[in-house]
Amino acid sequence: MLNIRSILFFVGTCCLFAACEDAQEQESTTYSFDMEPLTIDVTDPNSAANFSEVAVTHLDWDAVVNFDTKTIEATALWTIDNKAGSEKLILDTDDLTIKNVTLDGGEKTQFELKEEHPIYGRALEIEIFPETKQVAIEYATSPAAYAVQWLNPQQTAGKEQPFLFTQSQAILARTWLPCQDGPGVRFTYNANVQVPEGLMALMSAENPTEKSDNGAYSFKMEQPIPSYLFALSVGDLAFQKIGSNSGVYAEPSVVAAAAKEFEDLPKMIKAAEALYGPYRWGQYDIIVLPPSFPYGGMENPRLTFATPTILAGDKSLTSLVAHELAHSWSGNLVTNTNWEEFWLNEGFTVYFEQRIMEAIYGREYSEMLASLEYEGLKEEIESFRANKTLPDTRLKVELEGRDPEETFSGIPYNKGYLFLRNIEETVGREKFDAFLKEYFDAYGFKVMNTEAFIQLLNIHLIEGDETIAEQLNLNEWIFEPGLPAKHPIPTSDKFAEVEKLITDDMDYASIKETAANWSTHEWLRFVNKLPRDIGTEKMAQLDETLDLTNSTNAEIQAAWYKLAIANQYEAAYPNIEAFLVNVGRYKFLGPLYTEFAKTPGGLVQAIQIYEKARPNYHSVSSGRADKVLGLVK
Ligand SMILES: [Zn+2]
Repeated sequence: MLNIRSILFFVGTCCLFAACEDAQEQESTTYSFDMEPLTIDVTDPNSAANFSEVAVTHLDWDAVVNFDTKTIEATALWTIDNKAGSEKLILDTDDLTIKNVTLDGGEKTQFELKEEHPIYGRALEIEIFPETKQVAIEYATSPAAYAVQWLNPQQTAGKEQPFLFTQSQAILARTWLPCQDGPGVRFTYNANVQVPEGLMALMSAENPTEKSDNGAYSFKMEQPIPSYLFALSVGDLAFQKIGSNSGVYAEPSVVAAAAKEFEDLPKMIKAAEALYGPYRWGQYDIIVLPPSFPYGGMENPRLTFATPTILAGDKSLTSLVAHELAHSWSGNLVTNTNWEEFWLNEGFTVYFEQRIMEAIYGREYSEMLASLEYEGLKEEIESFRANKTLPDTRLKVELEGRDPEETFSGIPYNKGYLFLRNIEETVGREKFDAFLKEYFDAYGFKVMNTEAFIQLLNIHLIEGDETIAEQLNLNEWIFEPGLPAKHPIPTSDKFAEVEKLITDDMDYASIKETAANWSTHEWLRFVNKLPRDIGTEKMAQLDETLDLTNSTNAEIQAAWYKLAIANQYEAAYPNIEAFLVNVGRYKFLGPLYTEFAKTPGGLVQAIQIYEKARPNYHSVSSGRADKVLGLVK
C-alpha cells in the first residue's frame, strides 16, 4: 500500500527571547515503509497445514450447538486459493469426527486423518484437484474439545441457563473447526448458528443485539482473521450500548454494572485512534463471561471476551479493556507469523495499553501500572531461572515440537513492553509514534516476524547510527534470556509513599487512615511489598485493620491470599477456597496453587481444593494447574 504522507503542521510559538513572532513551521516526523517491501516468510512449527501451497481464504460455517450432548455439529465450507495447483489440502484437527468431505458443492472426495500427534492433533489430508475452489467438511466436535467450555446453569450468574464459550488461542481452534490453525493464515467468514431457544449466540463478527425467536443466528466477518480469533459464545445474554460504536454483552443481572464499569470505553477508542490510526473493525464490544473464563480477556475481533473479575465497581481494573482494545491493532491487525513470535503481539499490546492509560488517566497512573508489571516480571524471570527454563525468557522463543502453552508467561508481555519503551526513550516519543503509526498502517491485515521488525528498526530508526544501535541493544533484548542490565525502570511517587509505611514496627492506625484514599494499584503495591515471611500475627493485625481477606477486588484478593498461603495464615483459607472454586482466571490460580505446592502440607490442601475447583475450569487453566500440582508431568 502506497501511502506517502508529508504532513506539515504549524506550531504557534511565542518566542520570548527573540523578535520572531511568526508562526514557526515545522515538519512532523512521518514514515513510509513502502520503499523497501520486506518479504516475510510464514512458517509454523505448530501446524501441519500446507498453507503455502493452498490457503483457505473464506469460511461458510453452519453449526448446531447441542448443550445436551456437549457437541457442535457443523459443516465448514472453505473457499481455497490453490496457489501451487496442489492435489491435497491439509488442515489441522484435534479430536474431531469427520463425517464426509465434498468438493465444489458436489462430489465426495477421499480424506484421511493422519496419525495423532500428542500436542498438535491429527492432520486432515483431503484430496482435491488443482482447479478445486471449495471444500465442504461435515464434522462434529467432541464433548472434551479443549477450546470449548460448556457451563451448567450453576456456573452462571443467572443460575438458570447453560452457557458456552470458546478460547481458540493458541492452537485450540482445531478442536472445534478443521482449519489451517496458525496465526499466519487469514480468512473472512459467514456463519449460521442454531442454539436452543431463549439463548443468544455471539461470534467474533457482526453480532445481534437481541435474542432471536427461534435460536437461529447469522454472522458475517468481512475482515480476514486468523483461526485463533474464531470465537463463539452462547448464553442468556443482554446488550447495553456504551458509545456510538461500542457496547457490552453480559448476563442480564450483570450488564448494567458492566456498562458502568466500562463507561470510559469511548474515550479509550478515541485515545487509541489518536495514537496509531483508525480502528479498523467497525464495532467494538465486550462480553463479560462467567468467572471460569481462563484469561483476563481475549481480543476476539469486534467482541473482546472478558473475565468478570475486572468488575471492581470503581473502574480500577479496566486497563485490561485498554489492552484488549489495543490488540485491535497489535495482533489482530499486524499479526505474528507464528507463536514463536508471540512477543510481537503482546509486547506491542502492553506498550499500547500503557499509552492509552497514560492518555486518559495521566502518567502517574500508567507508571503505577507499569511498575506493578515490572516487579512481576523480575519475579517471573527468577522463577524461570529456578526452574532452569531461562531460555524461555528470550523474546523470540523456540516451539518446534512443543506446545505454545509451554512457554506462555508474562515475559512476552512485560519484557516486550520494556523493550519497546527502551526504543521510545532512545529515539524519542514523537519519532517512535510516527514509526508505529506507519507500522500498523503498512502491515495491517498482514504478518510480522522478529527479523522483519528488526529490519524496519534498522532502516527507519537506527539508520546506521552506532550510538542508537548500542542503546537499543536489539540482540540482547530479543535473543538473550533475562533482562539487559540497562533497562527502563517505571517509577511512581505514590508507590514510594506506600512503601514508607512498611516497617518492622508498622503503625496500623496511620496505615488505615492513609489507605482510605488508595487506588487499587497502591493497595497492590502495599500487599506485594509486605515481607514474604511477615508471620501470622502481623497478618492478623493487618486483616483486622484493613479487612483484606474480605476484599472484593480480585487483584487484591489474589495478592493477599498468596501472602496468606506463604505464611499459613489459615483465617483466610475459607475465602481462598471459595475464590479458587469460583474463579477460573489462571493469572490468579497459578500463583496461589504454586504457593501452596511449596510445602508438602500445602500441596495436600491445594489438591483437596482443586478436586472441587477443577470441574469449573476451562482446559487452559486445568491443564496448567495439573502441572503445578504435579498431577501430570
Ligand atoms: Zn494480550
